[in-house]
Amino acid sequence: MSKRVRETYHRLGEILVRKGVAKSKHIDEALREQRQTLNEGGDAPKLGDILVKRNILSPTVIREILEEQKVGRGEKRVMSISLRGSDEVAVLEIGGRLDESKQERVAKVFERLMNRGFCRVLVDCRQLVYLDSHGVSAFVAYIDEARARGGDVKFFGLNPDAQFTLDRLGLNAYIQTFEAEGEAVRAFELPIDEYMSRGSLGEYVSIDTQKRFHLSYCPSLESVADEDKVYFESKKHARDAGKSACRKCRP
Ligand SMILES: [Zn+2]
Repeated sequence: MSKRVRETYHRLGEILVRKGVAKSKHIDEALREQRQTLNEGGDAPKLGDILVKRNILSPTVIREILEEQKVGRGEKRVMSISLRGSDEVAVLEIGGRLDESKQERVAKVFERLMNRGFCRVLVDCRQLVYLDSHGVSAFVAYIDEARARGGDVKFFGLNPDAQFTLDRLGLNAYIQTFEAEGEAVRAFELPIDEYMSRGSLGEYVSIDTQKRFHLSYCPSLESVADEDKVYFESKKHARDAGKSACRKCRP
């Protein structure tokens, strides 16, 4: 077995376990069967085929994951840029893995966008299969720059793993992420300051009968029942609804 094949087999097992679609026990058993066949001088069956034969996974799941792997190995197009909306939001589509190996390329794309005057960048993460702290650092440096110019860098379509990476790095309080493209594009209509309070993204809350709006952790909300709370997407949304900022929590 060539090194390449061995690594692919190994990686597939690792991914299946990480995605929670197979138990490591099953992978170990399948790898053992593979090794045994090899030792007996036969052609090693593919790990995926063994798992299908053992009714652990369906052929569809295996196919999907191998497709993702292809994207990750750069056998498919992994980056593209397009412009959407009248406000010229640059949509940057990133597929596959965003880790140390792609960090520099992505950073260069951001630099080019900034140099061309694009300060509203939306990163389409629907095809992104893996994100780590190196990948994150490819764009973090440009967020402040974009914001200083009245724009922002926002994200949509992150898978739970990638979202978890942002959460773990504490960036969920700083970076806006959305499920769908439409809502993300719309969020560019307001300056980021309307969403932020004291350096982090805020949740703006009021009560129907009150004139003030608050940060979600304002002490004056302590005795308010959840069902009486009204949430606003931004400070502007709260002001448009006739509310003014609380003097205590100063959102
Ligand atoms: Zn308050």
